[in-house]
Amino acid sequence: MKIYNTLTDKLEEFKPINEGKVTMYVCGPTVYNYVHIGNMRPVITFDMVYNYFRYLGYEVTYASNFTDINPKIISAAKELGITEREVAEKFEAAYLNDLKNYNCSDIDYRPTVIENLDNIFNFITELIEKGFAYEVDGDVYFRVRKIKDYGILSNQDIKELESGSRVEIDNKKEDPLDFALWRKTNEGESFNSPWGLGIPGWHTECVVMINSIFGKKIDIHGGGVDLKFPHHENEIVQSMALNNTHLANYWMHNGHINVDNVKMSKSLNNFILAKDYINVHTANEIKLAMFKTHYRLPLNFTDDLFNEAKVLDEKIYNVLKQANLQIQINNLETNKISLDERINEIMDEDFNTPNLISYLIELVKDLNSKLRAKETFIETFDKIVLITNILGLKYILPKLTDNQKELYKKWLLCRENKDFEEADKLRDILTAEGVL
Ligand SMILES: [Zn+2]
Repeated sequence: MKIYNTLTDKLEEFKPINEGKVTMYVCGPTVYNYVHIGNMRPVITFDMVYNYFRYLGYEVTYASNFTDINPKIISAAKELGITEREVAEKFEAAYLNDLKNYNCSDIDYRPTVIENLDNIFNFITELIEKGFAYEVDGDVYFRVRKIKDYGILSNQDIKELESGSRVEIDNKKEDPLDFALWRKTNEGESFNSPWGLGIPGWHTECVVMINSIFGKKIDIHGGGVDLKFPHHENEIVQSMALNNTHLANYWMHNGHINVDNVKMSKSLNNFILAKDYINVHTANEIKLAMFKTHYRLPLNFTDDLFNEAKVLDEKIYNVLKQANLQIQINNLETNKISLDERINEIMDEDFNTPNLISYLIELVKDLNSKLRAKETFIETFDKIVLITNILGLKYILPKLTDNQKELYKKWLLCRENKDFEEADKLRDILTAEGVL
């Protein structure tokens, strides 16, 4: 199994820390608003990664956080006239609802900042004691220059960063590169810390949560490519400071989403909210559209892409439904496939979902022709089901009642006996009941 590791910029053989186990963490949303479809790409991507590892037989532990303390939440609370906790609760619930509507897997941990405050205090205190952080007037900053690897993930030279306009200027800092671990706040919700009232910096929470759930190092850390710098870079240096590890052995980043070749952005007002998009397209269609592009590449949403996804989704459903009918009428056994070499070959190359979809299309054609020719088809059916499970697609196939099975058999008999009038009647009933 090979994974493209953003840390080394290489396709690397995956070797888990503990044999047979995978630990993974993906940065979650800041719960100050509804998430947009761009936020769903890492969710859907890493859900597929999670499913694939489990199919391979790994015991996977997956965590993704809620950033529930943040200046954006303070602003939203002011705007909405409710408390910060109410804002966080409202949008946490909305996000979980999105995940449900997109048929995403339940994961093992959803830590929040508020429940990790003590861990954060201990973590920052240790950084200060070891000389990696310093307090100035109620703020605490990380001394970036103490870690020689700064820039390793985003491939930036420290000199470039130094002169870069992307680094904010703050007179309180010893160095413009330093970033805040704790910030004094005068407005909105704040928490009592060893350094006075304030809120934790975003970059510190993920490291603390990973350490408290998993220990010093995990197998996979994921997120959108826009988080590489500064967020993930800053996570890495804190982990280097205290634990001398890059926090994760494999860093995976998904590309962003364009809409008709234009990058989604607030200023362009082309943000598509996940909760609205699911009323326009089904979860299956959105996933099929996403997986047509490799996760690392930018993804372009177009009408054509979605039309294609819709057609494919219908084809998959129809063929599965036809096969399911035969399985039930003839009492066939399914789920015999536990491994398909071709799936492994495709997915072991850094989760090559575009190729997996091509293979899926092949199997759908194959299953259709086998059903038509009345050949054995179970193996093909099982392979299709397996792929749809890995991709997180959901197909609800009708479960036939005994009465429906009888009707179906009668219908076949009528056709055989050329009693077309009766056959038509039965077909109408079967169609109305969703059997055909
Ligand atoms: Zn993070």
